[in-house]
Amino acid sequence: MTKLIVLISSLSLYVSFSLSSVIAEDYPRADAVPGGIAIVKLDTSSSIPPSVYYGKKRILVRQTDAQWEAIIGIPLSAKTGIHKLRIVPANKETYSRDFSVHSKEYKEQHLTIKNKRKVNPNAEDMTRIRAEKKIIVAALSQWTVQTQVATQFKVPVEGRLSSPFGLRRFFNEQPRKPHSGLDIAALEGTAIKAPADGKVITTGHYFFNGNTVFIDHGQGLVTMYCHMSKINVKAGDKIRQGETIGEVGMTGRVTGPHLHWSVSLNNTRVDPMLFMDKL
Ligand code: ZN
Repeated sequence: MTKLIVLISSLSLYVSFSLSSVIAEDYPRADAVPGGIAIVKLDTSSSIPPSVYYGKKRILVRQTDAQWEAIIGIPLSAKTGIHKLRIVPANKETYSRDFSVHSKEYKEQHLTIKNKRKVNPNAEDMTRIRAEKKIIVAALSQWTVQTQVATQFKVPVEGRLSSPFGLRRFFNEQPRKPHSGLDIAALEGTAIKAPADGKVITTGHYFFNGNTVFIDHGQGLVTMYCHMSKINVKAGDKIRQGETIGEVGMTGRVTGPHLHWSVSLNNTRVDPMLFMDKL
């Protein structure tokens, strides 16, 4: 009996040790599908980070056990098959690495929007939408040099997952772009907390997204919070993990109060669930 207890306690000791020692590298989880993330080990062992490109997009890198790895956001529109990375080490020749993208079937979602202008905007709305799109794309394509990027997130809102990432969407039975974030339904006024440390890029009020905050976490990792009732932060503010940045609302195109949360890597929207263990 004593032997058994010793065995069990040493086993649990081993498990907790191995978990805590790898936890930072467990996130984001690799899931090489459209809308997912590929993690590719690189050759270089230099202490200077290599520059990595996927097409023209700069890719987040991190150092693990004296080796670099690239963390790539894969677009929802990506084709399955072999994709190429270009690696420019600090003091060696450029080389390339392949990674495979596997297929994933996302479900359909049919939503009814009462405000028809939010589904079929008029000419004046379209002018506004185009101008806002430029601002939103600029925020999501932000690149900031940062050695340590926090890639493990805390859930930003206590609530119910109402729409997962990637749903193929129909508004009033008209096909629209797939769902590029995840929705957490909660009462209006519920606090929205930063999932990781970062810096506010900008805030605004947009036609579809309503009151919105963008946070830069470094190396092209950017998070976006939409439909807020209240914004508590401004451009340039440094944010700590868990700090309240505003409140859940129903501004913009919504069917009820919720947070739409997008996570962007290399200006590509990916599944936020890959940065957490659960909601
Ligand atoms: Zn959403």
